[in-house]
Amino acid sequence: MTAELIDGKAIAASVRADVTTAAAEVSEILGRSPTLATVLVGEDPASEVYIRNKHAACAEVGIESVHRSLSADIDEGELVALVESMSVDPEIDGILVQLPLPSGLDEDRVIGAISPDKDVDGLTTSNAGLLATGRPGLVPCTPAGVIEMLDRIGFELEGAEAVVIGRSQLVGRPLVSLLLQRNATVTVCHSRTRDLAATCRRADLVIAAVGVPGLVGPDFIKPGATVIDVGINRTEDGLVGDVEFEPVAEVAGAITPVPGGVGPMTIAMLLANTVSASRPRD
Ligand code: NAP
Repeated sequence: MTAELIDGKAIAASVRADVTTAAAEVSEILGRSPTLATVLVGEDPASEVYIRNKHAACAEVGIESVHRSLSADIDEGELVALVESMSVDPEIDGILVQLPLPSGLDEDRVIGAISPDKDVDGLTTSNAGLLATGRPGLVPCTPAGVIEMLDRIGFELEGAEAVVIGRSQLVGRPLVSLLLQRNATVTVCHSRTRDLAATCRRADLVIAAVGVPGLVGPDFIKPGATVIDVGINRTEDGLVGDVEFEPVAEVAGAITPVPGGVGPMTIAMLLANTVSASRPRD
């Protein structure tokens, strides 16, 4: 392998160390710890693990967390009322509703009940609008983590040719806005893009957020380019990304592994967003 390995675990640990300092500062001002409320509806085992991991990560950096588990057959109005009550609770700074919700519950309506200044996942239309118009707000954790990672390895975004593969609300679109804010030249590709490999080969930075194992091969990569693999795919060989890691690492200048790349950054940015949401505003 010739590419430099971008160690997401180590970068996330340094973000968490900064968040620990910031959480202690805010605790002094508030007289209590920054507090994240999580809501889980139904009994999806993967979601239960994600929630447990988020609570453990909060505890490590000095963020208090509270949790509500609700039955999958909860009435939508009741769920919305719970989220609205958290939105006005002065002891709660951040709210995270674990997605996906069980079928029959309207995710847009439930997410819409989160106060935008407590929306630590950056999923409300209000925060999406602020991001799309280049104004400050809470930014979705995975795209924020990708930018933080690039900053911490010293990647110069200004003027760089960046190709983002994927245009989801959760990852691709917010990434495009963040890259534009940083003056990268951005191309966004998706399932109808005609020649994906040729488009990617122009790029100094390729970010894959697709969900197709091994989609990005070495023929997609300009020698020396930086490759960020957001994809998480469960296969018979375990967790893999959207990038064919070994052959691409022979061409790229720097590359993230899966696991151990973007994944740890996502949770670190959730913690950063929670502390940022807890800071008293003038
Ligand atoms: P998504 O909502 O399914 O979006 C996938 C995007 O990829 C869509 O825009 C789709 O195009 C595009 N696409 C699908 N097949 C393609 C192909 N063959 N060629 C080019 N583009 C193609 O997924 P997502 O929520 O953005 O997540 C993407 C991946 O990131 C998943 O593997 C997910 O598990 C992972 N993820 C990781 C983290 C993390 O913490 N590391 C966080 C979130 C997500 P169309 O728009 O045309 O359909």
